[in-house]
Amino acid sequence: MKLAILSRNAQLYSTQRLVEAARLRGHTVRVLDPLRCYMRIEPGQFEMHYKGKALADYDAVIPRIGASVTFYGTAVLRQLEMMGLYTPNPSDAVLRARDKLRCHQILAREGIGLPRTVFGDNPDDTNDLLQMLGEPPHVIKLNEGTQGTGVILAERASSSRSVIEAFRGLYANFLVQEFIAEANGADVRCFVVGGKVVAGMRRQAKKGEFRSNLHRGGSAKKVPLSEQEIDTAVRAARVLGLNVAGVDLLRSRRGPLVLEVNSSPGLEGIEGATGEDVAGSIIDYVDHSVKRRRRRPGAK
Ligand code: ADP
Ligand code: GLU
Repeated sequence: MKLAILSRNAQLYSTQRLVEAARLRGHTVRVLDPLRCYMRIEPGQFEMHYKGKALADYDAVIPRIGASVTFYGTAVLRQLEMMGLYTPNPSDAVLRARDKLRCHQILAREGIGLPRTVFGDNPDDTNDLLQMLGEPPHVIKLNEGTQGTGVILAERASSSRSVIEAFRGLYANFLVQEFIAEANGADVRCFVVGGKVVAGMRRQAKKGEFRSNLHRGGSAKKVPLSEQEIDTAVRAARVLGLNVAGVDLLRSRRGPLVLEVNSSPGLEGIEGATGEDVAGSIIDYVDHSVKRRRRRPGAK
């Protein structure tokens, strides 16, 4: 197949691994910087140019769209979808996954486990909002934060109130959650490809830190996942419409709780910790999906 990878940086580990895995399997692959893609939209015709030339004959695109280019990146991806390219993660699903609040609402509707979460706008309602949540500690997080930035642990209700006030002052959207203490600063990243968990790792926060993100100094180790964890991760990816997803779970007394579903999950941490060829699984899944679409035109 002829494959495009939408990525701002061809040198990133994840991008390089996808390119390598595609070439190893005999596919043609090109990395496209989404910000250099520009498009023409007219009735029934969708055209995309890249650095002065028309893009043509691509079968599929793998989006790796960073949070900072969500708007432009998903517009490019949508245009490619309209030109008939297959993508494992459609633009709508990428947009859905970027918004934590929206994700939580969708996952909750499906009965998938989550930390209890509250959301509100008016300062007059803060006390009742925190009552609805329950006793501190609370976790306050920016709705569109990534890599652990904008996630704050408040031990007392008074700290929760001041952080909430500060975020409101900055016009930032935020969620407030119950703190899952028994997770002990660890979470589990389940890497889902095409409805299967292909790799799983446990990330442990460094000492004195409750956020287990690798970017916050956490360390990662391969772990066996329970059936319930696998089922939760697969369902979470499915209800959001993602065929490639990094689903982060907290291990709690009441079972796995979804923290976040990442639509451009990094490959370096997970391949390093587990030794799995996750890039290869993604390419194989995309190839399989492109072939299935050719056999059954009109199928997704
Ligand atoms: P980000 O998208 O920035 O990674 P997360 O919601 O995944 O934000 O939170 C970052 C980290 O903080 C998680 O990996 C987890 O270790 C910790 N954490 C987040 N929410 C909670 C919570 N409700 N209870 C306990 N730990 C949490
Ligand atoms: N950017 C990577 C991702 O989207 C890294 C995040 C992380 O591993 O914490 O998953």
